[in-house]
Amino acid sequence: MTLHTITSIREGLRAKQFSAVEIAREALETAERENPKTNAYLRLCPERALAAAAEVDRKLAAGIEAGALAGVPIAVKDVILTKGVRTTCASKMLENYVPPYDATAVERIEAAGGIIIGKTNCDEFAMGSSNENSFFGPVKNPAALDCVPGGSSGGSAAVVAQGPAVVSLGSDTGGSIRQPASFCGVVGVTPTYGRVSRYGLVAFASSLDHIGPFARNVSDAAAVLEAMAGRDPMDSTSAAAPVPSYSAALNGGDVRGMKIGVPVEYMKHATGETAELIHAAVGKLRGMGCEVRDISLPSTDYAIAAYYIICTAEASANLARFDGVRYGYRSPETASPEAHKLSAMYRNSRGEGFGPEVKRRIMLGTYVLSHGYYDAYYLKAQKVRALIARDFTNAFREVDAIVAPVSPFPAFRIGEKVNDPVSMYLSDIYTITGSLAGIPCMSVPCGATTATATDPALPVGMQILCNHFEEQKMFRLAHAFENS
Ligand code: GLN
Repeated sequence: MTLHTITSIREGLRAKQFSAVEIAREALETAERENPKTNAYLRLCPERALAAAAEVDRKLAAGIEAGALAGVPIAVKDVILTKGVRTTCASKMLENYVPPYDATAVERIEAAGGIIIGKTNCDEFAMGSSNENSFFGPVKNPAALDCVPGGSSGGSAAVVAQGPAVVSLGSDTGGSIRQPASFCGVVGVTPTYGRVSRYGLVAFASSLDHIGPFARNVSDAAAVLEAMAGRDPMDSTSAAAPVPSYSAALNGGDVRGMKIGVPVEYMKHATGETAELIHAAVGKLRGMGCEVRDISLPSTDYAIAAYYIICTAEASANLARFDGVRYGYRSPETASPEAHKLSAMYRNSRGEGFGPEVKRRIMLGTYVLSHGYYDAYYLKAQKVRALIARDFTNAFREVDAIVAPVSPFPAFRIGEKVNDPVSMYLSDIYTITGSLAGIPCMSVPCGATTATATDPALPVGMQILCNHFEEQKMFRLAHAFENS
């Protein structure tokens, strides 16, 4: 199997070394063969993929421009709608849901010639940090099959690390792209909030949800983001700001004089090999001519509490639509003696259709929004969110970019944290701040832990955060780092 990149596919198609249909076939066959190891794909869509690939070949043969992603096999997280292709959110609730339309991101990827080959596994409704909350079973990390790939977009990270997809789409609400990218050793990008339309992304926490790419290198990630970004009339929170050429921002690695901030509040918690690798990466940036300095993000300690109030509040409202009436799972009328009553039908459908983590969040969210608690929890969390955003605004007056760990630890063993939700939530400490502020952030591989007799070497990612709509700067730094 060839580990293609967007560039190698473009060049191979131009030189007629292979056709888009051949590439799509290879990706589908590899996915079929490799998937039993990782459970990263929930389903493939060969008909759609081969039809799209044939169209690319037809355009190329006719000398028509086939798009920036022509012939590139792309996997899509199963919380992003694909017309006619089942989209389950890894939940029993939507086990048989076939969307009547495509998400805008998917539409734009295909308009750029991208080939959607399948839908990837994830935590149920994107709630989780390990991909163990899927109704269809956990995903395994291709780098160490007894470890989690991270979550919630674990399948999207795994298929790019493993090879059957060249790039993939994930969603990030509090770290679900960056953390699995770090755990699987690939690039993962969370763009500025509003940069990519959320139309067709099943809502978890609408004020925090982002769609973003996974790729094996920075330039591929930049190309995918460029293809999907931009205003969409179907999403009123999508930004009107013009989309610059992210690929053109990768200027060959000169980042001399770039000011980099390292948050003291993050580094004081970082321990072990992850901390050593981040320190080494920072040293490397210094060696490349960046001016590195310590900065302070003083509200960091309150971020997890604020995030888990805001995201659960929004989730409890967003998931109210899954009531067994219009679509989704409906409990059979025989489920209980009362099942013919409306309230029992709701209760049974939601009780049977949602998994434990989703239920926990709906209950937490309902609680923090309820009368008498709203001010104490939800309103307070919103104020903390504003303080966190202000920390970043202040920091970006002094520095161009912030560099930090993605996660306090590398991939952990499947089952290790599954019964301890608080410890699982703590693993999001470095990623949710950027999400709450709505700024662009990404994970770029920065090495691996040392293999021991019991543990294999595990990938570790470095996080880069920039100010709103400064993706170009972020990509430039990541690209330079990748090539150093
Ligand atoms: N791990 C975080 C959570 O469980 C983030 C999830 C996400 O970004 N979708 O909420």
